[in-house]
Amino acid sequence: MSLSFTLERRPDPAGEQRRAEILADPGFGVHFTDHMASATWTRGEDWHDGRIHPYGPITIMPSAAVLHYAQEIFEGLKAYRHEDGSVWSFRPEANAERMQRSARRLALPELPTDDFLASLKALVEVDQAWVPAYGTGETSLYLRPFMYASEAFLGVRPAAEVTYSVIASPAGAYFSGGLKPVTLWISQHFARAGAGGTGAAKTGGNYASSLAGQLEGIEHGCDQAVFLDSATQTYIEELGGMNLFLVTDDHRLVTPELTGTILEGVTRSSILELAKDLGLEPEERRVPIEEWQEGVRDGSIREIFACGTAAVVTPVGELRWEGGSAPSTAGDEGGEVTRAIRTALLDVQYGRAEDTHGWLTRL
Ligand code: PMP
Repeated sequence: MSLSFTLERRPDPAGEQRRAEILADPGFGVHFTDHMASATWTRGEDWHDGRIHPYGPITIMPSAAVLHYAQEIFEGLKAYRHEDGSVWSFRPEANAERMQRSARRLALPELPTDDFLASLKALVEVDQAWVPAYGTGETSLYLRPFMYASEAFLGVRPAAEVTYSVIASPAGAYFSGGLKPVTLWISQHFARAGAGGTGAAKTGGNYASSLAGQLEGIEHGCDQAVFLDSATQTYIEELGGMNLFLVTDDHRLVTPELTGTILEGVTRSSILELAKDLGLEPEERRVPIEEWQEGVRDGSIREIFACGTAAVVTPVGELRWEGGSAPSTAGDEGGEVTRAIRTALLDVQYGRAEDTHGWLTRL
């Protein structure tokens, strides 16, 4: 049976003026809407108690399994306001399906796609005033579904009680520098994922294990870390929160293939589909880091960019590692292909271009 969401309205929602102040400069991930969605799963009972309720602190026992064993997964997608005022999301079924794959890997219950979509719709309906107006730059309402082992039990086994929630946060540009290229650091000491591990799942532990590499990068004056395959330190994998693409001089759009240690980004797979529309040949394969290091010098690699829901498409500039660096090809605001792909995606998301791939779902 599908989940329905009862509504308990917040008695003290943010006033119109406060909301307007936040929406004028939302930042990223710092402000949250008035409500959230939640549902519970109990072994033997399936999903139940779907509700929309006031956003606020949650109560879990100190013995809740998630706090000890990190049995947790999450998702990230956005709601976009179109010019006619309607609100849309971009390929939310892909996020629902990825959450189901993550759930299988973390031994959590799968939330059916229809219930996932229903939770987003119910939350956005009650908090629709929080979706930034059309034409206010790259603003949107970032949606963060997550699921965690809420059972109070100190034993290492899949939890018998699990909580699913969605919170929503008005979002401006993810990187404050706009299209300014990001400088990357090759993390050689710290891996985020390994063969047979959880790299392909969107689970908190991957992000926790990426932080030391990220910090090392910042200490070396870089914005982000790029992770290589942990076994051989030879092939490019991804950033802590974004996938990578290389644009070659013969119009190929190359991205690391999915080896089980990389997150399958919704933006990544959309760009692979868009490539043909833009006259580029998409290529998924293992990409040696040497190809980048040498290609930016001999001209065979023209552009490099990172992609993900939060930052859309971001030009990548210089690459640094212990004892060396490779120059940027990105100029001040990224190359032509990087900008064309970014514009093509944003135009679909904001309803400025025809949705020929059927990617939009009305919320
Ligand atoms: N890789 C990682 C590790 C990520 O966290 C994300 C963000 N979800 C991505 C790639 C990009 O995925 P998406 O395009 O679905 O946002």
